[in-house]
Amino acid sequence: MASLVPCPHCGRRPKEEFTIRGAAVARPAPDAEPSAWFDYVYLRDNPRGRLDEYWHHASGCRRWLVLTRDTATHELYDCRDAAGPGASA
Ligand SMILES: [Zn+2]
Repeated sequence: MASLVPCPHCGRRPKEEFTIRGAAVARPAPDAEPSAWFDYVYLRDNPRGRLDEYWHHASGCRRWLVLTRDTATHELYDCRDAAGPGASA
């Protein structure tokens, strides 16, 4: 896995400063069927290739990020703030 993560707020930082929550999947609507919530909480695909993941910069800016990573090669493609393009540090 790449050893440096390009945090949009802190620059390139060692991966040890981050914790990973998992795949960045869309949250169901609050009134969605229980089966949709079950799928959201418990079921995940295990794709080979590019995947958006939630990463938390726990030892840096403490922001949640969405990082695009190749699950086979661990190459990093994109890193952005999870709150959106206008989020501040
Ligand atoms: Zn950061």
